[in-house]
Amino acid sequence: MLRVGLTGGIGSGKSTIAGIFMVMGIPIYDADSRAKKIMNENEALKQSLIEEFGPEVYTPAGLNRSFLAQIVFSNPERLQVLNHLVHPHTIQDAETWMHQQESPYAIKEAALIFESGAQSHLDIVIGVTAPLALRIKRTMHRDKTTREAVMERMSRQINDVIKMRLCDYVIVNDDRSPVIPQVLRIHAELIKRAQAV
Ligand code: ADP
Repeated sequence: MLRVGLTGGIGSGKSTIAGIFMVMGIPIYDADSRAKKIMNENEALKQSLIEEFGPEVYTPAGLNRSFLAQIVFSNPERLQVLNHLVHPHTIQDAETWMHQQESPYAIKEAALIFESGAQSHLDIVIGVTAPLALRIKRTMHRDKTTREAVMERMSRQINDVIKMRLCDYVIVNDDRSPVIPQVLRIHAELIKRAQAV
């Protein structure tokens, strides 16, 4: 079974493209939602987060995301500490999940693949790209947020050009190039590659 990563900057359309693979029967691991689950359920990680960021990280209802976001989003060093604590758990969790899948290939969808070193646990990485202005517009619309807030989040991700160069396949999701034929082409190649393994 091939372990495939699907990545791209915020607003590139990763989740939308993941949805197309999903309707073709390909299992999708959503790193974002799995990370939230792990941060709420893994006792060792919860303890490390409390030690590092204080008891306010958890409320009786679970992870206090706004408290944590407030700390890390204004401080890149604290963000790095958070990522160093969480990423090994999500990488391990994705690895376990991959082994449980029975399709020719399975996809891990994550904004941060190269940033977290997760590519060494993947056989192939697909990138999704779109022009910056379109990514900003899409994200503002989706999250009902401001241009400044989107730009802030983008500044924490590695440059899209560099990211796409690191990918084995690139899907252009620019509202001009039809995406379904691009997905179908990659799907056919991945099936062929999986059979050759
Ligand atoms: P990401 O997961 O990369 O942050 P999303 O897949 O959530 O991006 O896409 C961001 C927004 O743009 C969503 O509201 C989505 O519906 C929209 N979008 C993405 N790609 C397309 C597309 N090809 N056509 C129309 N809307 C799109």
